[in-house]
Amino acid sequence: MDDYDELLLKEKEQHYITSLNPSLNMRNAYITAQERYENQKKLWTYRNSLDLICECGCKIKKTHIARHKKTKKHKNIMIEKKIIELKDLLGCKNLSIKSDDKELI
Ligand SMILES: [Zn+2]
Repeated sequence: MDDYDELLLKEKEQHYITSLNPSLNMRNAYITAQERYENQKKLWTYRNSLDLICECGCKIKKTHIARHKKTKKHKNIMIEKKIIELKDLLGCKNLSIKSDDKELI
């Protein structure tokens, strides 16, 4: 019984393989995958070449944004921004708050 089922399956499989012309299908699938890859690559390259405005206000290439966020420049600007935000929040714009000697509020 099992052998018979297996034979039937094999016959069906062979039928589909023959009728679908596997060499042509594989080739088409390969080209499509290749094209998809090329398109992805183009899109990726394009996206990474775009300039982004970082939250600190600097213009940075998308591909460099992660590295930029670790820089002192970015961190210092973000600290300054936070201080300004806090000053606004507390309504003490004239209060002097220094960031270099840790006298933050
Ligand atoms: Zn930044």
